Amino acid sequence: MISPATAPPAPAASPALGVLQGVFGYPAFRGEQAEIIDTVLAGDDALVLMPTGGGKSLCYQIPALLRPGTGVVISPLIALMQDQVDALSALGVRAGFLNSTQTYPERTAMERALLDGELDLLYLAPERLRVPETLALLARVPIAVFAIDEAHCVSQWGHDFRPDYLLLSVLGERWPDVPRIALTATATDATATEITQRLGLASARTFVASFDRPNITYRIAPKDNPRAQLLELLRTEHPGDAGIVYCLSRASVEQTAAFLVAQGIAALPYHAGLDAATRARHQARFLREDGLVMVATIAFGMGIDKPDVRFVAHLDLPKSVEGYYQETGRAGRDGLPSTAWLAYGLADVVQQRRMIDSSEGDAAHRRRLSANLDAMLALCETVGCRRVQMLGYFGQESEPCGNCDTCLTPPSSWDGTVAAQKALSAVVRLDQRGQRYGAGHVVDILVGKRTPRVEQLGHTDLTVFGVGADLDERSWRGVLRQLLAQRLLGVDHSGYGTLHLTPDSAAVLSGERTVLLRHEAPSAARAARVRKAAAGPAGDLSDDDAARFELLRTWRAGVAKEKGVPAYTVFHDATLRAMAQRRPGSLDELGEVSGVGAAKLDRYGAAVLEVLAG
Ligand code: ADP
Ligand code: ZN
Repeated sequence: MISPATAPPAPAASPALGVLQGVFGYPAFRGEQAEIIDTVLAGDDALVLMPTGGGKSLCYQIPALLRPGTGVVISPLIALMQDQVDALSALGVRAGFLNSTQTYPERTAMERALLDGELDLLYLAPERLRVPETLALLARVPIAVFAIDEAHCVSQWGHDFRPDYLLLSVLGERWPDVPRIALTATATDATATEITQRLGLASARTFVASFDRPNITYRIAPKDNPRAQLLELLRTEHPGDAGIVYCLSRASVEQTAAFLVAQGIAALPYHAGLDAATRARHQARFLREDGLVMVATIAFGMGIDKPDVRFVAHLDLPKSVEGYYQETGRAGRDGLPSTAWLAYGLADVVQQRRMIDSSEGDAAHRRRLSANLDAMLALCETVGCRRVQMLGYFGQESEPCGNCDTCLTPPSSWDGTVAAQKALSAVVRLDQRGQRYGAGHVVDILVGKRTPRVEQLGHTDLTVFGVGADLDERSWRGVLRQLLAQRLLGVDHSGYGTLHLTPDSAAVLSGERTVLLRHEAPSAARAARVRKAAAGPAGDLSDDDAARFELLRTWRAGVAKEKGVPAYTVFHDATLRAMAQRRPGSLDELGEVSGVGAAKLDRYGAAVLEVLAG
């Protein structure tokens, strides 16, 4: 329970709102937070599906503060527990954790604090529940609520399956009277159903938030020269910003990070091949320092709640819309304008189709992977709004957003039937000779390029040689990519990415089926000019406000460094922005700024006023 000293000055409409304002410093609940909290306060179970950055934490933190006893939070993110506890301590909330990183004395001290009723919140790694003493320990104290964070980890189909999560059904059985709240940012029906079953949450109230992240601009660009494209994105739109660059392989993570560093951009690699200490160090630096770029495989990111990640860039095609959505969702948790950018090309489609064909597992598993990839390709190739397509995938209807590349510069489509026929014919002619080739060679034949290989193989004699001279190589690669995406071309199982016809190809060759293709988007440089002004945290502030914002950021960096904590645990960018704009002249006025709670007002209020007074 919170002490009266941290209660808000004016009586709030409800105790929950009182805590939101007094402890967290936010004026109002977002979305369904209030209802979710009321459900748990009433002692009922809840299942919460809410996008990253939606505000899930408050849904269990506030009940933990208001109900008698300690709130127990199960989280797989051991490496982040210290930061979570630090952030809560900065708000005056008494929090601790138990996990395998602690020494024995640290653990016993924490257990003592719990037994003495000194903890509002206890973060617990799921594997602790394997130890009988943990259950015995929990049985000795009153428990306010069990929160199961990252609840999709119970799903065996998902990419984050944690066997220890299956143990969590014990909570409902041993503590039938303690409300449980399961939370995840994974939205599909299949995952929700699995969570409900495995955690025994059949009677829980389910809350599904809108999965829209309106502050993220989604862009998917044709891949020409990915590193140069990335560099341009960072230099023109996100100089000095923190962001994540996802690559498929460890090797490309290393190379891309080295490339960025050589270009003068502060970047760090992260992948499962690095030892645990290096990974932990890089993660800690990313969280604590301003403006670092993390180049990573998807091993990085779950649960990273750094609010000021300004961009997430993908240099390789994600395997599913769900994964893409989760990864891009790490941008802009603070609600400020952010960018999700993906470079995608022909080779990606070839590579992924091949990986699926040669993957372990049964036919049903491969079909599932294929369906996931098809949905991702459909998102890449759509001429409609990206957001409408993505939300539709999660079963949510929406209007064109005006904040994605296809809305901002609508692509046109063209009748590509003849082009498709030419491309498919080239593949047929080669096949008739008993030969199969990859996309590069097929493009050479279509445009009539006399490469040594073409000459040597005698492919200049083919009737299709040069039939596609009306289009350039880039356009042909776009045509082949789209034919692959539409399953009008297939990729061989063999290691070379050679092309073959599919059952659907015949209808195109015979003219029964027309093929609609998307015009390739303009090159990156041209697109940049059409784009809106820079995103970035200072974004649309006036010059004066922006100057004050920078002063506050400098002050914050000093405080963070001195205390050895992440800058955002001092104040978020969004809060500094609001201070810069509103220029509060007194502690009372400062206390009204969103993100300034009682504890922070106490600790930093005078210093902030001094910075603002200049
Ligand atoms: P999630 O766990 O759903 O990804 P968080 O709980 O970390 O999201 O919340 C995301 C950000 O939004 C945090 O910085 C949090 O402080 C902020 N936030 C949450 N609820 C509110 C609210 N009602 N008003 C203002 N900010 C909020
Ligand atoms: Zn849109």
